[in-house]
Amino acid sequence: MATVTPTAPAGQATEQAGGTAAPAAQAPEQIDGFHLVIEALRLNGIDTVFGLPGIPITDLTRKAQAAGMRVISFRHEQNAGYAASIAGFLTGKPGICLTVSAPGFLNGLTALANATTNCFPMILVSGSSEREIVDLQQGDYEEMDQLAIARPLCKAAFRVLHAEDIGVGVARAIRAAVSGRPGGVYLDLPAKLFPQSIDAEAGRRSLIRVVDPAPRQIPAPEAVQRALDLLKGAKRPLILLGKGAAYARADDAIRALVEKTGIPYLPMSMAKGILPDTHPQCASAARSFVLPEADVVLLVGARLNWLLSHGKGKTWGGKSAKDWGGQKFIQVDISPQEADSNVAIDAPVVGDIGSCVAALNAGIGAGWPRPPAEWLAAVGERKARNVAKMAETLAKDPAPMNFHSALNVVRDIVKANPDAILVNEGANALDFTRSIVDMYKPRRRLDVGTWGVMGIGMGFSIAAAVTSGEQVIAIEGDSAFGFSGMEVETICRYNLPVCIVILNNNGVYRGDEKNLAGGTDPSPMVFVKGARYDRMMEAFGGVGVQASTPAQLRAAMEEAIRSRRPTLVNAIIDEGAGTESGRITALNPTAKKK
Ligand code: ADP
Repeated sequence: MATVTPTAPAGQATEQAGGTAAPAAQAPEQIDGFHLVIEALRLNGIDTVFGLPGIPITDLTRKAQAAGMRVISFRHEQNAGYAASIAGFLTGKPGICLTVSAPGFLNGLTALANATTNCFPMILVSGSSEREIVDLQQGDYEEMDQLAIARPLCKAAFRVLHAEDIGVGVARAIRAAVSGRPGGVYLDLPAKLFPQSIDAEAGRRSLIRVVDPAPRQIPAPEAVQRALDLLKGAKRPLILLGKGAAYARADDAIRALVEKTGIPYLPMSMAKGILPDTHPQCASAARSFVLPEADVVLLVGARLNWLLSHGKGKTWGGKSAKDWGGQKFIQVDISPQEADSNVAIDAPVVGDIGSCVAALNAGIGAGWPRPPAEWLAAVGERKARNVAKMAETLAKDPAPMNFHSALNVVRDIVKANPDAILVNEGANALDFTRSIVDMYKPRRRLDVGTWGVMGIGMGFSIAAAVTSGEQVIAIEGDSAFGFSGMEVETICRYNLPVCIVILNNNGVYRGDEKNLAGGTDPSPMVFVKGARYDRMMEAFGGVGVQASTPAQLRAAMEEAIRSRRPTLVNAIIDEGAGTESGRITALNPTAKKK
């Protein structure tokens, strides 16, 4: 790798007085901060950087590319940050986001905080201004105490001041991002660090190849036994898989657990596909029945946060919002602090999911009791009823299209292309896609996650295409798409196989709201009517298609997948389709019920 810069040590004359060339004294080979950062990352198997060049990291992006790294250059740092975070989820290695100082850093920070919240391993590497000036608040270019600002929003934050410490800084950042509960890490690299040169040999020796960055954490045998005892005695058991289970890549062990026990399971949205949604034990179609009815719930990599109604309330069969339904919980999680965060956990099993599930499987022998037949029959009956109801709705072909008729097409396309990665954001566009579109393989569904954040769409799509090489299908609400829409240029520039479908109903939630004052300004909830998002893609050389029928949508998606060309389908749906806040209307007490 030609990354060493042979520079003469400071003050060393290269010519003697009088202009006669001296016999060249061999200058010791030097390496600068730029190349130390690049080599430290490469040494740890990190081959891709998502970012946006500018002062002081412009040269870092050039030199990283010259050194053979893939450098994906975005139009806004937030999207680069989301890309890095989901690359972390998809690969198990920390995703790297590279930003300039102050404003660029702040743009990346939302993604860093989101990564931490979602347990995605990511490192935000930001250039920063001169420490001496920042600390005295003397008004440097893009002055900001970035380390202090990042610290509360991530798992760990480090600053490197000397070139010889780059190896340690990168190693610590990697360990912090991927060990234990994964999360976001901030690495502050002041501008002055990059041109520092040190002896190349010493520099190389200072770099660290991190050994076993995410060590297995074996659960205690008595914790495993406690969990098995509880599960064995259950009359109405349920397994709940979360995105931690998808991240853990313990797919075979999880399938064995589900199939050996015969227990119905529910996947959280990014856990869909660990087992195919069409698996006979999948209880997604009976969700509102199994949650309140279950007596023992085994949580695997899922938190009892708002997405699971905190384990309480009517969802779980409680009499009121604060009431708990009486279930017993087993929780498999790498974080020992997660248990009891919302309701009592009767059997916490702390460790990495691969080791924990293997230990549970080892205790589930041939004599393990099948769940009672009445429970399985009740779940099966509820499922069949709901599936039939959904099939009826999907079979309708209203004009204009609605969410269901458009997503019926997406459902078929994903079924025919099970390796494709589905990215999904919006309100109704999110909720309907999650429940209508079945997933068949693990880590193929990426969405708004724990925060329900809008804006992940194009960053996630780009990272998914770059890290996997697979076809990406992004199902976007028209409002959600707006947060990252400019990245269609990035998709075209790198010629990525991304097919974006905008479910366009002309507004936030829906497009038919009026200005309550009757003035000429539009309602804050609506956008330009009949907007041609497809032309945005055409502007950068991609394929844009306007689709107003399911047949047009199907043809456009099939062609996008056949050609692997960047494609944007503007799918026009009924502007009256959509509920305020989608399925989380309960969190918006003033939501208008239409
Ligand atoms: P979901 O939103 O799908 O319910 P959450 O993000 O709430 O999922 O929960 C994921 C959980 O998985 C977190 O509590 C996290 O600590 C845990 N987790 C992540 N990776 C692992 C792993 N390798 N082993 C065990 N637990 C993990």
